[in-house]
Amino acid sequence: MGSRNGVFVGGKRVTRAKLEHDSWLQFGPRVAFRFSMTDLREERLLRKLYESSTRDALTGVYNRLHFEERLRAEVAYAIRHKAQASLLIIDLDHFKRVNDTYGHPAGDAVLKRACEACSKALRTEDVFARFGGEEFAVVLRGIDVKGAARLGDRLRKAVAAEVIEHEDQRIQVTLSAGAASMACCQHPSAEELISIADRRLYLSKEQGRNRVTSEG
Ligand code: GH3
Ligand code: MG
Ligand code: MG
Repeated sequence: MGSRNGVFVGGKRVTRAKLEHDSWLQFGPRVAFRFSMTDLREERLLRKLYESSTRDALTGVYNRLHFEERLRAEVAYAIRHKAQASLLIIDLDHFKRVNDTYGHPAGDAVLKRACEACSKALRTEDVFARFGGEEFAVVLRGIDVKGAARLGDRLRKAVAAEVIEHEDQRIQVTLSAGAASMACCQHPSAEELISIADRRLYLSKEQGRNRVTSEG
């Protein structure tokens, strides 16, 4: 189609070529694809492999690696388009106590249910991820810090309302969160967003837990 950078198949510049299974197709100097013919079963397997590389095994929400990639992409997009983006960092309150009182499997069940409750309250474009242990993060596209705080409060209420039944025990937990947006940053970056949200999460803990902080 008159490409100026060239189209290559298997390393050879072409204007017309028949693609075989596993052909390497290259557009210009930097973009390459592998052409592959897959049947339905193989496609399902590939999809599953991709899912498991981006998801946390226990809770099924996104893992930290995927979260970091998406946060960086959202920040770059927001800078380029002068758009809003926010980050919410969430930490379950006194979670060590849950494990100590009810046991580790009960703690796992609580983590799963807390994630389900949060997922229900989120939009599909919100990137909800397990940040580590009992810490979670949400990347919010097009939302300012006030909106992030409101959403955080919705998640807080949803989790607090859950009663998790595990082997005849009824367990309840609360969460604390910190919100930060692009406008809160001096030199907006993924790192600065994380650092501000984390500082505000710490303030929530200090001020008594079960709350969301969006300033300070
Ligand atoms: P705070 O309110 O200050 O956050 O107190 P905390 O007890 O939640 O904080 P701390 O960091 O002391 O404890 C976190 C606990 O979370 C300790 C760790 O064993 C537990 N934890 C981390 N990952 C998992 C997990 O996958 N399953 C279970 N059951 N527990 C986990
Ligand atoms: Mg923690
Ligand atoms: Mg905690």
